[in-house]
Amino acid sequence: MRVGTVREIKNHEYRVGLTPESAHELVAHGHEVWVETGAGLGIGAADSAYAAAGVTILPDAASVFAGCEMIVKVKEPQAAERAMLREGQVLYTYLHLAPDPEQTADLVRSGVTAIAYETVTGARGSLPLLKPMSQVAGRMSIQAGATALEKAHGGRGVLLGGVPGVMPAKVVVIGGGVVGFNAAQMAVGLGADVTILDRDPEALERLGIHFESRAKTRFSSRANLAESVAEADLVIGAVLIPGAAAPKLVTRAMLGTMKQGAVLVDVAIDQGGCFETSHPTTHADPTFIVDGIVHYCVANMPGAVSRTSTYALNNVTLPHALAIADKGWKQALRDDPHLAAGLNVHAGQITFAAVARELGYAH
Ligand code: NAD
Repeated sequence: MRVGTVREIKNHEYRVGLTPESAHELVAHGHEVWVETGAGLGIGAADSAYAAAGVTILPDAASVFAGCEMIVKVKEPQAAERAMLREGQVLYTYLHLAPDPEQTADLVRSGVTAIAYETVTGARGSLPLLKPMSQVAGRMSIQAGATALEKAHGGRGVLLGGVPGVMPAKVVVIGGGVVGFNAAQMAVGLGADVTILDRDPEALERLGIHFESRAKTRFSSRANLAESVAEADLVIGAVLIPGAAAPKLVTRAMLGTMKQGAVLVDVAIDQGGCFETSHPTTHADPTFIVDGIVHYCVANMPGAVSRTSTYALNNVTLPHALAIADKGWKQALRDDPHLAAGLNVHAGQITFAAVARELGYAH
């Protein structure tokens, strides 16, 4: 199969669909790979790295779209890209169609076969192609929080790990799923005093077994949460209620109980945020202050560490890309129900029930 990757054109997107190493794997499986010139520059991969992997470099996205049977991307296709999609072609990328009727209509019109990373499933209903981005955001939340705690950034001038003779900072992680677990790992590693709150007894048990005495776990009742937040130097918001907006767990009134210069990092901001006072920010201007409390609310945190994020994403997307290229998409989906769950659009039909329902298409 001829597989193509283009330079991402969404604002501030630096990741790329295929690393040179992933392209090399496809080439080793006997496939042809075409890449648009400069596609890997955002992760520091020059055209020469792709060429050394056996890739053909093309001058523009149009040539890649025109000649490839499968396009591997990161972000949903933008309008200019959607105009280049065609019937019989496979598009393998993040799509997030439910809130995006315009994109959905264009994909339906194009006749493309679109497989969405975010709906590919794993064992026990997990979403393995979303997980690495939660891992990145969780780990990054501690870096972001540590920086915001510095005096020059509006914080209270506290070092997370303290130093010998000076107490470490108190880090409170609300939600002990993928983001929360990774945040806690980083905070524990830096020597902070870490408490993780969750409402799921199984999550609390898993966290307790993993961290033992290196982090405390606490049931997320209103009273426990209010007490933990009041004592915290850094609070990480990492809750998720599948299919729903994030609950506003920290209210504006609670900010008044916190230490001046304490920091809130709202990782759940992409689901509306779990602090009442949050609003989405960008990497260019990531923080703002409400009632003396610093807020960091960047909605696409993994974008800032494009190289790590791209490699993490490729680790989970490549096996499926290889299966689709080796067997053809029909056989690959027949053989793997988890990959089949990723099919969102095919030949002018919405094939994913939740998207069809949300946007009023027949299914
Ligand atoms: P997850 O499902 O693995 O974990 C969520 C956890 O929240 C679960 O353990 C759940 O029990 C817990 N929870 C639910 N309600 C709670 C409550 N009231 N109190 C305490 N805990 C509660 O989800 P995840 O992958 O860790 O993602 C967390 C959030 O981070 C999501 O909103 C996700 O979209 C977001 N996210 C944001 C970025 C970004 O760049 N900002 C990147 C990746 C993920």
